[in-house]
Amino acid sequence: MALIACKGLSLRYENRLAVEDVSFEIEAGDYVCIVGENGAGKSTLLKGLLGLKTPDAGSISYGEGLKQRMIGYLPQQTVVQKDFPASVYEVVLSGCLNRRGMRPFYSSAERQIAERNMERLSVGALRKKSYRDLSGGQQQRVLLARALCATEKLLLLDEPVTGLDPVVTSELYAMIRQLNLEGVTVVMVSHDITCAVHNAGKILHMGTGVLFYGPAQDYPDSAVGRRFLGGGHHA
Ligand code: ADP
Repeated sequence: MALIACKGLSLRYENRLAVEDVSFEIEAGDYVCIVGENGAGKSTLLKGLLGLKTPDAGSISYGEGLKQRMIGYLPQQTVVQKDFPASVYEVVLSGCLNRRGMRPFYSSAERQIAERNMERLSVGALRKKSYRDLSGGQQQRVLLARALCATEKLLLLDEPVTGLDPVVTSELYAMIRQLNLEGVTVVMVSHDITCAVHNAGKILHMGTGVLFYGPAQDYPDSAVGRRFLGGGHHA
C-alpha cells in the first residue's frame, strides 16, 4: 500500500479551483519534488496533504500507519518566523507538540527526540542561541530538526532553500538527501527545477492538474519537461 494516495483530489478557495482532479501515489522511501509555475497549486496541495484544507472532491489516504499529525512540515519562511524570539532548543522541541498532546510539559522521551534531531542536523552546539540570531542556513537546519521531531516517516518541505546562498543551498540539499537515505520519505516544493531533477527520485509537475508525474530521469525528455527546462524557468 502507498504511503500517500490521492484520487481525483480537488482543492478550492471560494470560487477558485487551485488543485483539480489530481491523482498520484507516493511510496515509502520516495523523494518527490513538486514543481510548476507560480499559482500552480503546489502549496495548496501540501496543505491538503497536511489536512489543513478539506478536499472539495476526491480523497487522500495514508498507508503504513501514517497519521496526518505525524507529518513533519517545513513551511515557507515568513519574516515573522525569521525573527522568532526563542532558543534553538525550544524551537526544535516545539516539533514534539503533537506528541505531547494535552500534557502541560514535555516528557523526557520527547526531550531526547529533540536532542537526537539537533545532533542529526548538527545544530546541537547552537542550542542556547536565539533562533533569530542564526544565519538563514542555520535557521533552516533548526526547522528541519523541528520537523523531524514530528515524524520519522514523512517530511513535507515548502521551498526550503529560498534566499540561501549556493553553498548553503547545496549543503541543505545534501542533508535532505541523507535523511531520505535514512528512510524518511521527502516531498518538497521547489522553484529550482534543475536541482530538483538532480536530487529527487520523482517529479510531480503541477499546473492545477498533474502535468507530469514519474521518475526524475524521465522528466527532461517529457513534453512538459522539455518546455519547462528549455524555457529559461531555472529561477
Ligand atoms: P503555488 O504554490 O504553486 O505558487 P498556490 O497553491 O499558492 O500555488 O496557489 C494556487 C492558486 O490558489 C493560485 O491561483 C492562488 O492565487 C490561489 N490561492 C492560494 N492561496 C489562496 C488563499 N488563501 N485564498 C484564495 N486563493 C488562494
